[in-house]
Amino acid sequence: MAKKFVRAVFPGSFDPITNGHLDVIERGIKLFDELIIAVGRSPVKNQLFTPEERVQMIDELISQRSMPGVSVESFEGLTVEYAAEKKADVILRGLRSLTDVQYEFQLAMTNRAVAGIETVFVMTSEQYGFTSSTLIREVASLGGNISNLIPENIYNRLQQRLKKDQRPQTQDRSLGS
Ligand code: ADP
Repeated sequence: MAKKFVRAVFPGSFDPITNGHLDVIERGIKLFDELIIAVGRSPVKNQLFTPEERVQMIDELISQRSMPGVSVESFEGLTVEYAAEKKADVILRGLRSLTDVQYEFQLAMTNRAVAGIETVFVMTSEQYGFTSSTLIREVASLGGNISNLIPENIYNRLQQRLKKDQRPQTQDRSLGS
């Protein structure tokens, strides 16, 4: 019997992408023929990078690490509608701990109920079990060293962004006027 071609969508905020996300992506590539990293465009408070910036940073990573079958794009609206538009067979999500399970379980059940699509979960490596984009944004903005939790190009972009955010307001005003 011919092997079925399986296309997966990995949706998330990725603000910014972390080594935990990358770990999930690398495990995902082994399971699927094609993997689309889908950056949600839903308006969220406290976003550090725009969806365009996140897509561009992830694209850079895909080229650097040579990941055949992996691509990135942004999407708006319901994940299940986007997955259907892409003719994806499954949604990929990552699990860090039991805390993730409850929320992810609800999300997966809802997505299956509304669109009949299955969600495949992969467990991250133990070393990234505590890594989240939110914590990375917070720790980095307070000057903590998070260099071993995110890829190098993302670390550099994060440092640049935080420096820019810390510029005195007067400078911003004079630039804007
Ligand atoms: P969302 O806001 O949709 O949860 P995230 O970018 O925070 O978007 O996460 C996208 C997916 O990646 C989710 O399934 C999340 O559980 C998973 N994820 C996030 N960080 C990690 C990590 N360190 N290890 C494994 N999975 C992770």
